[in-house]
Amino acid sequence: MISGHTNVAAVIGDPVRHSLSPTLHNAAFAASGLDWVYVAFPVPAGDAVAAVAALRTLRLGGMSVTMPHKSAVVAAVDECSTAVEALGAANCLVPLADGRIRAENTDGEGFLAGLRTDADLDVAGRHVAVLGAGGAARDVVQACAAAGAAGVTVVNRSADRAVAAAGLAGAVGRVGEPSDVATADLVVNATSVGMGADPSMPCDPALLHGGQVIVDLIYEPRETPWLAAARAAGIEAHNGLSMLIGQAAVAFRLWTGVEAPVQAMREAAENKSA
Ligand code: NAP
Repeated sequence: MISGHTNVAAVIGDPVRHSLSPTLHNAAFAASGLDWVYVAFPVPAGDAVAAVAALRTLRLGGMSVTMPHKSAVVAAVDECSTAVEALGAANCLVPLADGRIRAENTDGEGFLAGLRTDADLDVAGRHVAVLGAGGAARDVVQACAAAGAAGVTVVNRSADRAVAAAGLAGAVGRVGEPSDVATADLVVNATSVGMGADPSMPCDPALLHGGQVIVDLIYEPRETPWLAAARAAGIEAHNGLSMLIGQAAVAFRLWTGVEAPVQAMREAAENKSA
């Protein structure tokens, strides 16, 4: 029951009405018995700084940030996590007790948590191939290197973006070719190839083999043509739903101080798409 005491958290973005975040967070608040509600605010490009000012003025409990504001909000906050400093992008704003706003990027931690849940895999000492060099790829590259991956190879259509993304992994990062996929322990599709009704694949599935773990960050559809091809070849393959839930679970904990009820979030996401 919403009352005068209810805490409000929100996501800003454009477009944002399609976001699964309200479903995930409201399920989590309900399952935890917290008097919180989570809503979506469409905020056009250029208004990110005003949205952060609103977060302060309205004393919101927390704010998620999605495209196109992930970089623009960084200039409007009081402090940044190490990941935000490295990436220059935030997806989560946390109001601190003293009134300051801290920017976090929970996508990388969400990805690593999803990998542990889905594949019982720790990237420490592993070779990772990342297809793509956009925002999601950068999150994954930075997180894998920070978690001790032995190598992070970035394969991308645009060479300049590949170089920038590989740089986030420091000494273990490099730019590669599609054929490098064959020697990786973990192959991550962080391109938008295969999203929605797109029938194309981010790399030739013939390069994949048993013993590898495949993750497609896409979760709409739940099974992309690339995931289907990997699974048909008997290769362990997972979609991006666990990363989505993982990043939301970290945000939930940062805002409320309570561990997120991950299973309730997963059930809500699965029911939403059913
Ligand atoms: P982005 O910043 O726009 O990056 C898109 C990437 O896809 C770039 O590397 C781009 O290559 C590549 N690409 C696009 N079309 C391509 C094509 N036809 N052929 C080859 N490469 C192509 O997007 P993003 O925010 O990183 O998102 C990427 C994907 O990750 C999306 O599908 C999104 O749904 C998913 N995602 C999932 C989660 C999750 O929680 N599971 C979170 C964030 C994103 P160029 O650099 O050459 O343009």
